[in-house]
Amino acid sequence: MRQTISLIGHPVVHSISPAFQQAAFDALGLDIQYEAWDVPDVELPIAVERLRSSSLLGANVTIPHKVTALRFLDHFDGAVELVGAVNTIVNRDGQLYGMNTDVEGILNVLNSIDVDFTGTNAVILGAGGAARAAVVAMRQIGVARVTIANRTSARAHELVKLGGTELDIETCQLDGMAREFQSAVTGARVIIHATSLGMNHGPDETANLVPSGLMTPDQFAFDLVYTPEQTPFLQAADQAGATTISGLAMLVHQGAAAFRHWTGQEPPISIMFDAARTSLDSKTDASDAEMR
Ligand code: NAP
Repeated sequence: MRQTISLIGHPVVHSISPAFQQAAFDALGLDIQYEAWDVPDVELPIAVERLRSSSLLGANVTIPHKVTALRFLDHFDGAVELVGAVNTIVNRDGQLYGMNTDVEGILNVLNSIDVDFTGTNAVILGAGGAARAAVVAMRQIGVARVTIANRTSARAHELVKLGGTELDIETCQLDGMAREFQSAVTGARVIIHATSLGMNHGPDETANLVPSGLMTPDQFAFDLVYTPEQTPFLQAADQAGATTISGLAMLVHQGAAAFRHWTGQEPPISIMFDAARTSLDSKTDASDAEMR
């Protein structure tokens, strides 16, 4: 029987998950169809309930439902409890299991570059869901200290407890001119950008929060924003000679982790990567054409 996996979000038209997940199912000859469901808030309970059907293997959950969807699930993994949001649902005999593969996505990207971050310092810009996943990932790779810089400082403070006993977390102003921000950035081995700035159709597409002059060639600059692939932050990091890591890598790796949960099979990462990049390019071209 053909099975379905859905993407539950609103809107979903810009998502590239359908392209790279379908490419992966097809490459492995799996009879699975990945469908994007545009689900407004009022329809969320019904959409999640549909996932209990035996023809549905599960779902991805995206903005704005990553937190609200938790209410309708039966079980959660540890990453969901720490991050407070779900991005993957698996249907096992009508029971819905919520998972958060963003943490695994970040970890797998960092593991793929084969650098030991144990005992180093990190800076995370932002304090939303993506930043929370980044804090949990930093704890798991043995980073010693994380500084969180966020526009709304109260939200940054909420993340301090995620460090547990292993990870020392402090917060600072999100201001490239502030001395404490500058010293946190210059002392970091990895700088993770997790705000919505620099993102196509986001609050400011050209903004970069970390001046190039603060970064050095021995640092790793990881932007969780994936559209465009070369964000203003990554361009500044590249100018400084730092190693840049694109959010597209995280997107593919979090999707690959979801693929493993749904199918129990090893995902074809390079096929997913190629399909994600092709889809991203075509959506960028279409959106540029709309603007003209
Ligand atoms: P979120 O929960 O809405 O958080 C947004 C963050 O951006 C908050 O820290 C917010 O600061 C900050 N922000 C928004 N507008 C700002 C502005 N004008 N100036 C300064 N800071 C601003 O969103 P999220 O889910 O964490 O996502 C953040 C980014 O990560 C998005 O671009 C998303 O696409 C990306 N992401 C990528 C992946 C991937 O797989 N690559 C996965 C998840 C998310 P305040 O707290 O002050 O509002």
